[in-house]
Amino acid sequence: MLTEVAKNIYKQVVPLPNNPLREINVYFILGEKNLMIDTGFNRPECEEALKNAVTELGIEEYDVFISHLHSDHCGLISKFAKSGCKILAGETEGEMINFESGNLYWRMLDDLFIKFGFPKAQFGRNTDIHPGRKYCNTEKVNFTYVDEGDVLEYGGYHFRPILTPGHTPGHMCLYDAEKKVLFCGDHVLGTITPNICIELGVENPLQDYLSSLKKIDALDVDVVLTSHGTMIQDVHTRIQELFQHHEARLAEVKNILTDEWKTAYMVAQHMTWEIMCKDWESFPAPQKWFATGEAISHLQYLYLSGIILREERNGIYYYKK
Ligand SMILES: [Zn+2]
Repeated sequence: MLTEVAKNIYKQVVPLPNNPLREINVYFILGEKNLMIDTGFNRPECEEALKNAVTELGIEEYDVFISHLHSDHCGLISKFAKSGCKILAGETEGEMINFESGNLYWRMLDDLFIKFGFPKAQFGRNTDIHPGRKYCNTEKVNFTYVDEGDVLEYGGYHFRPILTPGHTPGHMCLYDAEKKVLFCGDHVLGTITPNICIELGVENPLQDYLSSLKKIDALDVDVVLTSHGTMIQDVHTRIQELFQHHEARLAEVKNILTDEWKTAYMVAQHMTWEIMCKDWESFPAPQKWFATGEAISHLQYLYLSGIILREERNGIYYYKK
């Protein structure tokens, strides 16, 4: 179902089958030139929902802007590129999306998690532990890169890309300062806390994320359009809640550490998670992955702030107080 959420801006809720996120909000901006923001997974259900939306809106040509590299946001881009759409994205993200379309990316990500204590036996090589891997874009795309300072004109809006690393290394929001409209992708979500996870080439994702929250907090925003869940009424209140959440998480992680060396995977087992499982062992494998990713980002923040210690032993990182 399409909903008009602001003048010339329509929201299509796209299903994400068998995924805890359940759905993604894809936005269309209509005018002389049309823009679609994000695509959903590389799954027929997502493709069908978007094709129906395009038909219902009666548009023939449109560009596609990708907020970030996660497969629920860019899974279908090569299909849209083949059908003639111009695909816009930030350079960091675009390069990673193309890298992600091959196996090496996923092998390197596996190795990175092993380095933080994730047991090899839990996933091995070619399994589906990561939902993003199963439904990712599988072909390289010729991106048109956009950057801060550019202006994207669609539907009477003048959108500026805002680089907001943290949730991913090159996550981008779009902001119209005059109309005070912000597309914030997964940077700020109303109903859930955006997952802050380690990525290839990133040392301190939580620090990046907190800095990016401050960047958005400085903006004057009336309409906040998120990629998941319902609209946020006041972005500044939500940003304060997210700051508090991560402060509490940092305190929790610090408290879990003792004078014995622990890996991020070991720390994750002792953190509190909102998941209906009786214990860590019964967590579905992808949830263990995301939980470990969160533990890593908080441990790295504490370590790089000089608050805790880290040591590498046999290629694996251990932390202690
Ligand atoms: Zn995401």
